[in-house]
Amino acid sequence: MLELNVTQIQMGHSAPDKQAALALLAEVLSAGGLVAPGYLVGMQAREAQGSTYLGQGIAIPHGTPQTRDQVHCTGVRLIQFPDGVDWGNGQMVYLAIAVAARSDEHLHLLQLLTRALGEGDLSQALREAREPEAIVALLQGAPQELALDSQLIGLGLAVEDFDELLWQGARLLKKAGCAEPAFANQLAQGEPLPLGNGLWWLHSDQAVLRPGLAFVTPAQALEYRDQPLRGLFCLASLGEAHRQLLERLCDLLIEGRAAAFSQATSSRSVLEALGGEVPADWPVLNIILANAHGLHARPAKMLCEVAQAFTGEVRVRLAGEPGLGVSAKSLSKLLSLGARRGQALEFSAEPAIANDALAAIEAAVQAGLGESVEPLPTQAAAPVVVPPTNAVVKLPAPVAGARIQGVAAAPGIAIGPALVRVPLCFDYPAQGQGVAAERERLNAALAQVDEDIQRLVETRAEANIREIFITHQAMLRDPALAEDVAARLLQGASAEAAWHAEIEAAAAQQEALHDALLAERAADLRDIGRRVLARLCGVEAPREPDEPYILVMDEVAPSDVASLNRERVAGILTARGGATAHSAIIARALGIPAVVGAGEAVLSLAQGTPLLLDGEHGLLRIAPNEQTLEQARHQREQGELRRQRAHAERLQPAITRDGQRLEVAANIGASAEAAAAVEAGGEGVGLLRTELVFMDHSQAPDQATQELEYRRVLDALDGRPLVVRTLDVGGDKPLPYLPMPAETNPFLGVRGIRLSLQRPDMLETQLRALLSAAAGRPLRIMFPMVYGVEEWRVARDMALRLREEILLDDLQLGIMVEVPSAALLAPVLAREVDFFSIGTNDLTQYTLAIDRDHPTLSAQADGLHPAVLRLISMTVEAAHAHGKWVGVCGELAGDMLAVPLLVGLGVDELSVSARSIALVKARVRELDYRHSQALAQQALGLESAAAVRALMEESD
Ligand code: PEP
Ligand code: MG
Repeated sequence: MLELNVTQIQMGHSAPDKQAALALLAEVLSAGGLVAPGYLVGMQAREAQGSTYLGQGIAIPHGTPQTRDQVHCTGVRLIQFPDGVDWGNGQMVYLAIAVAARSDEHLHLLQLLTRALGEGDLSQALREAREPEAIVALLQGAPQELALDSQLIGLGLAVEDFDELLWQGARLLKKAGCAEPAFANQLAQGEPLPLGNGLWWLHSDQAVLRPGLAFVTPAQALEYRDQPLRGLFCLASLGEAHRQLLERLCDLLIEGRAAAFSQATSSRSVLEALGGEVPADWPVLNIILANAHGLHARPAKMLCEVAQAFTGEVRVRLAGEPGLGVSAKSLSKLLSLGARRGQALEFSAEPAIANDALAAIEAAVQAGLGESVEPLPTQAAAPVVVPPTNAVVKLPAPVAGARIQGVAAAPGIAIGPALVRVPLCFDYPAQGQGVAAERERLNAALAQVDEDIQRLVETRAEANIREIFITHQAMLRDPALAEDVAARLLQGASAEAAWHAEIEAAAAQQEALHDALLAERAADLRDIGRRVLARLCGVEAPREPDEPYILVMDEVAPSDVASLNRERVAGILTARGGATAHSAIIARALGIPAVVGAGEAVLSLAQGTPLLLDGEHGLLRIAPNEQTLEQARHQREQGELRRQRAHAERLQPAITRDGQRLEVAANIGASAEAAAAVEAGGEGVGLLRTELVFMDHSQAPDQATQELEYRRVLDALDGRPLVVRTLDVGGDKPLPYLPMPAETNPFLGVRGIRLSLQRPDMLETQLRALLSAAAGRPLRIMFPMVYGVEEWRVARDMALRLREEILLDDLQLGIMVEVPSAALLAPVLAREVDFFSIGTNDLTQYTLAIDRDHPTLSAQADGLHPAVLRLISMTVEAAHAHGKWVGVCGELAGDMLAVPLLVGLGVDELSVSARSIALVKARVRELDYRHSQALAQQALGLESAAAVRALMEESD
């Protein structure tokens, strides 16, 4: 996806005419390595087909489909022409944005630009800008319009007090995409302002996504603070968008027209009074866009011309999106939709012209809007009801006595009955037995589920889990959802069909917002949706066995694992998944034995089947005989003894039998874990995953907040070294308050140090906090995902610059080696860094090209693959040649089969979860360094991870 940043902008150029400007732009694109010189021909041809002038002094020249093969990589370059360039028809361009794109990657950029082109004219400001930063601010910072339409008005709501009314207002804003879920809390912290006549005002600018105003009234007059409560305005405020509206509201109240709100019976009258978007009762046409590259400039222009041929309003929006859409006569507004191939556009037109206008639009869109279009694949006629089905193919269950090899994900031996959790399958009629009967069934099911959840709320000790269930209850009681379901019942739907359709629609709407937090809400909605369906259909979820059980699932999400009851769950078995998936890391941290990637047949196991799971070796036994069980119990006891012995010696150093010393440190994610890590024998912290500190806050923690966290770790370490990784988000780790555009390949996208270098302000704050917190104590800072010297040097220079200000003697700067290029370049990097820490989780995924969280492939992402071992070996050799040290902080460091190899390869430090420290130390003490070296050399010459594992099992 294309983004704007200052490095792409060149200021103060001039060009005598458009052709000269195009030549200059092509040259700049080519010098940036984005296109071949032949791209200029495409840019000229494109202008010949139609001007790329966008409005407000901006043009967006680009090539044609014929010159797409001239594009090396997608990107943009911006050139400012303060004296202007005539782009034809007297349209002066002060800023030209040259786009190099193969397909529709630039749509997002167009969307951004056209949204920026709001009501005011930017051309003068673009012309007068002196710095590239000013251009970026102008293009990104245009004020957003205040949302105010019928979906933001809720009249006559069944609420009992002020708080409930406030919650309803916040809910409408959230539903309209104006606010995040946290908005309601923020709003509640504000001071309500009485406006007279029972009207109240509340606003907040926290957790706001775009400005919007909601107005809600209670069904019956209530009292609040000894005054009547007849209506509440809730403002999600962002910038100045609401100023005009607020002035208008004040005028109305002064004129004595408060009754327009306090006694309103229709949203239309409220909107008319406030000047909001009044819903039009206009004919509508839905049509799917088939243009390969979406509604980009050329087809948009043609569509605009078709609409302009009619005197009267024609509006368009993406089907299902809130709001009234945009004028189809405005090119910039059309582009701002960002419509892609396959998306449905919903046109509406004034009744007087609707017949002709919609027909003309339909014909034009179907004809391809000036482009030849591939027809869309034909869709099968949609069934009336789509019951959720069990998506997993049912394979025959493994037989008693079977031995299944999965992937070792968390050590330990678990014995217990299976609790197989697969998606429930529902079957129900589309049509109901009459509205009253269906309503009654639905209400009964809702009440039962509410009660079930209430029981969960009351029995859970953990506050965070209770909160999840309380949210589920709120969703269940959502009056808007109830209203929409009731409307479907009135149309004759069965309770199941009506409920399922509305839950799906609400969940899809949340997901469409491309926000990790809202996507989680969608999962919550589906979760309660299934609970209610199960009640309606009489389908029962399997009952938990009385004794501790082995949870069998397709795959587990990290949040599933984190919310497990450790007293009840003896072990985890999954059909899919791998050892470095974050859910496996959490299972290890919680000490729950886990085997993952055991194959789909395990999902067919009968409930209660006795299972034996060996999380150390990734082994599963189905209904094992008494002898096998006896052996396992013995093994478990031995393991327990080993653990106890290791625990007793956890504070002793890890020295091999022939005197080679290794440091064993802890991987932690929260400052509060540091003390326990030291208690567990940690000789320091070898990896502080600071993103977890960031994730704990609802907005980016400022320097003081971070300092407090880091100081707490350093205090607990009491002089032991702290290795901190700077913020590592992106890829599979989103940060809710740092929304990132969706990427096709997030693991290969803006992750780790790449993101930090795009947000140097955040990196600088973090480094300042770290240096200040250290106050003379040993601090090692490392940067994640570094792929070459350039990123390292920029980050290092920033740290060194700050160290001039915030003095610290014992500071080392290094990088994580998690990208193969960094390992291959280790001889060069080793000259400059103070240390390397090898992140084998990512190094394995990037070396073997297997997504570490891939549902079916990640089981093969084994860090003992000789290709990964070779990279580790190269890194250690290069580092030692320059007198630098190397740690390993990926999961491999805690894998008992891998420890002898890592020791043999010369690694100086192993950083593992606190739970594994004592065992890793004990393992090191059992080793002979020379023998380990020989084993390591042997392993480097092997052909596969399996062969390496076999070698290590044999030599054990
Ligand atoms: C790694 O990649 O090995 C690592 C330690 O980082 P994370 O697992 O947090 O990506
Ligand atoms: Mg990593």
